Amino acid sequence: MSLSQPPRFSLETAHAILRDLYGIDGTVSLLPSERDQNFRVDSGEGRGYVLKIANRAEIRAMLEAENAAIERAAASGVCPMVIAAVDGSHIIEFEGHLVRLITLLPGQAMGALKRQSPALLADLGRALGRLSAALAGFDHPAVHRDFHWDLAKAEPIVAEFAGPAPVQKLLENYRRYAKSLLPELRQSVIHNDANDFNVIAGPGGECVSGIVDFGDMVFTHTVNEVAIAMAYAALGKPDPLAAMVQVAGAYHSEFPLREAELEALYSLACMRLCVSASLAAKQQAARPDDPYLGISQQPIQAVLPRLAAIHPRLACYLFRHACGLEPVPWSPMLTSWLRDNQHGFASIVEGVDLTRDAAVTHLDLSVESPLVSGDLRRNAPQPLAARLVARIRQAGGILGAGGYDEARMLYAAPEFQGNEPFEETRSIHLGVDLTLEPGTRVCAFAEATVHAFEDANHPLDYGPVVVLEHDAGPTKFYTLYGHLSRASLAVLRLGQRLAKGEPFAAIGTAAENGGWWPHLHFQIVTDMLDVACNYNGCALPSQREVWKGLCPDPNLILRIPALSRESRKPGVRELAAERARKIGSNLSVSYGENPVQAARGWMQYLYDADGRKYLDAYNNVPHVGHCHPRVVEAGRGQLAVLNTNTRYLQRQLTDYAEALTSTLPPELSVCFFVASGSEANELALRIARSYTGAKDLLVMDAAYHGHTSTLIDISPYKHEGPGGHGAPDWVHKTPIPDVYRGMFKAQDPRVGHQYAQQVAEAIDRIKGRPLCGYIAETCPSVAGQILLPPGFLSEVYGHVRKAGGLCIADEVQTGFGRMGSHFWAFEAHGVIPDIVVLGKPIANGYPMGAVICRPEIARAFDNGMEFFSTFGGSTAALAAAHATLDVTLEEGLQAIALAIGERLLAGLRAIGHPLIGDVRGSGMFAGVELVRDRHTLEPADREAAYVARRMRERGVLLGTDGPWHNVIKLRGPLQWTEMDVDALLAAFAATLAEL
Ligand code: PMP
Repeated sequence: MSLSQPPRFSLETAHAILRDLYGIDGTVSLLPSERDQNFRVDSGEGRGYVLKIANRAEIRAMLEAENAAIERAAASGVCPMVIAAVDGSHIIEFEGHLVRLITLLPGQAMGALKRQSPALLADLGRALGRLSAALAGFDHPAVHRDFHWDLAKAEPIVAEFAGPAPVQKLLENYRRYAKSLLPELRQSVIHNDANDFNVIAGPGGECVSGIVDFGDMVFTHTVNEVAIAMAYAALGKPDPLAAMVQVAGAYHSEFPLREAELEALYSLACMRLCVSASLAAKQQAARPDDPYLGISQQPIQAVLPRLAAIHPRLACYLFRHACGLEPVPWSPMLTSWLRDNQHGFASIVEGVDLTRDAAVTHLDLSVESPLVSGDLRRNAPQPLAARLVARIRQAGGILGAGGYDEARMLYAAPEFQGNEPFEETRSIHLGVDLTLEPGTRVCAFAEATVHAFEDANHPLDYGPVVVLEHDAGPTKFYTLYGHLSRASLAVLRLGQRLAKGEPFAAIGTAAENGGWWPHLHFQIVTDMLDVACNYNGCALPSQREVWKGLCPDPNLILRIPALSRESRKPGVRELAAERARKIGSNLSVSYGENPVQAARGWMQYLYDADGRKYLDAYNNVPHVGHCHPRVVEAGRGQLAVLNTNTRYLQRQLTDYAEALTSTLPPELSVCFFVASGSEANELALRIARSYTGAKDLLVMDAAYHGHTSTLIDISPYKHEGPGGHGAPDWVHKTPIPDVYRGMFKAQDPRVGHQYAQQVAEAIDRIKGRPLCGYIAETCPSVAGQILLPPGFLSEVYGHVRKAGGLCIADEVQTGFGRMGSHFWAFEAHGVIPDIVVLGKPIANGYPMGAVICRPEIARAFDNGMEFFSTFGGSTAALAAAHATLDVTLEEGLQAIALAIGERLLAGLRAIGHPLIGDVRGSGMFAGVELVRDRHTLEPADREAAYVARRMRERGVLLGTDGPWHNVIKLRGPLQWTEMDVDALLAAFAATLAEL
């Protein structure tokens, strides 16, 4: 169709058409369109329409076809409806133009969203599937046309363009893998242009409200419908293939794809982008000064090389898996053949019977294995090999084996690099590793042909590889041998026949194997994907099942008893289901539907069971770092010697009490040790009551002090929340001195005094009843990472003491240098509490709590009733606590907290996103309060939850808190580096930019 200029009617004319011809009144505004003229119409009753005035060149038959298709698809609920004019017609003529009115779909174009989530992509797939189902059997003469956007006509267009290498590669792929399948593909009328500006995302952006603009409809291969949507879905995504998989799997759930369609799908999707690039190149040649042409092609140019690097069969296997089909169709056949014929296989290690029970020790190198160190330097080949050999000796075996389907962190980058939004790394090991001496000869398990081996001109960084091809069984397949000796390959020839059991190469040294410990990597491969030797030995966790189909368990050939005995580890879903059955359900799990399965910690990092690394910005218990070796050693050493209770004299108890009190003001000199923060707060209350003989307690709003019945009573965060029963009469709540959101603001020079006055008033209100005391966190955490204003605490302590009460500082969250400026948070306020409560970080995760008070208070507590806590201050707890304190002091973690905290707070303030209402904190105790409006301070709770979820996806674990759940809480182990801060800031800014 040759196009004339798009129509240029005025808003008044559009309004008149609506009023006179459709009997509709409303506000009219112009919508962008290249070919036609479209007006958005908002009628009074909240209904919306689009008035479409077609290009003069438009033929009526095509519009009739569109209308008929829309009518046909109406029941699928995925497209707008055509509104009849007053005269009953669905197409009217106005000054030589054909005019239609359709309903306006709620939402906005998917292409205008800042981010297209996986949920949205899946909904797009489902919507298109429903559309395909609705259009099945539909036909109209106008859509049988020769159209350059018909994918069936793509090949000559792309060939003529002779574009850059990726386009050539994708064209070649199309010719090799898709073209011959065309006769097998179903045909029907399709929409033919589900690009993301023709897809309307519903409010919230997580679902599709419909697909518009049927002007490109054509009768062609049905699968092109989803292929086109996939092509555009890939654009601008961190993982384009994953986006395509998302759409394809969801499409299949509504409109099942057939084998041939699945096989052709990837190449067809890529061809759509090639056609776009080809046509744009042509237009650009004709209109070299039009900058828009180049800009609109940028996302396509960016994605083409990435798509060209993916083998269409791999894409097909991924699509199949997403569709719930066997990813590699012939893999199960091969697997059962191997199982059935095992007895006839030869050992692949010369002179070793691997099937003999005692010969082989299982070596677990998964992320959760103690054989692997969290300290990646200790996984260097030499120390790792030494540990593996020691383990084999200890087990009395000859060699070690393991590794199939194992998530490994051995390949992780040493530093956190969370500034890339897509962080998945290949961690799932696909072979079995056999730990063997260099020089050990390896053999073919059955007759074989040498398919490929490392070309000496292109050495692989992990050492020489040989691939053998096997013709036996239901299908051709391969075995891959890695980490060989280069010299041993000197006489090998491509195509060489090997007999069953024939040795053909030897194990290499670490030096020629990229430094890895001497071992054989043995892998079965069902599809080499046109790779000679450099085949993936590890897979991305998200592609795990597909790669397991491509590379079945090597133990089908090896038959190592120790490996057959290994029970499969449950995955996240199974664990979550089991937890739901066995564990009380009000112990919630973070990240709801998609929880993190924690498998390892190291310093400021956590790893999940897939080996994915996260920066820990949430946990303050591992104060000196997850699994800090000095704490681990202290605890382990003590557990091996003595771990008993405090009824016996133990040097460790008094040593630690001495060390701990030396960090506190001299008045605070008597310690009690317990096993948790809750136990410590309980004890603090008992002590205060003994001393004062009173019960009434002042608490701070939104406080949390622990999970026991009494502590729920003094924790408004709990007793005022869901399931709570309010405060008993002896608990008196005082306002949170929140200088951002509270009654008095930071700008008020007397803000601390103002809030302290409210405590004084609360004391006045309970006059007549004796006061036991006042308890508060020195920096309220669940209240939203609040910093108390200057002067507040000292005035409050004055009021409380005047009324005869004791001042209890809950330093469970804030002690031990976290605040950066001071070792204890109360020191920043120039006060000395009467009782200090410690917990969480005190022993870096070993259960421990402490109460420290003045001697006369401790004496009053000794009223005849014994105090004893079985686990409190047990020997191993003291060892862990003492090591934690030593590390904190010797590694200068308070100073690190200060420097890192300053960088973090400054970086957060510099982001300057409108949602950021307040950035506050001290050291590594920080909060970012998100608000929708800086004047009303409307809490942005959904946004905060979004940030937490997306930051996790970007590799950072953090929490949300505050009474309105709108404060991002940052408080990780005190081991962060500047790189960690910068990575967090980049991820945080990128996440906010999506909102
Ligand atoms: N006090 C505060 C301030 C806390 O944050 C917590 C725990 N979140 C506790 C006391 C109770 O500690 P635990 O969970 O060890 O009993």
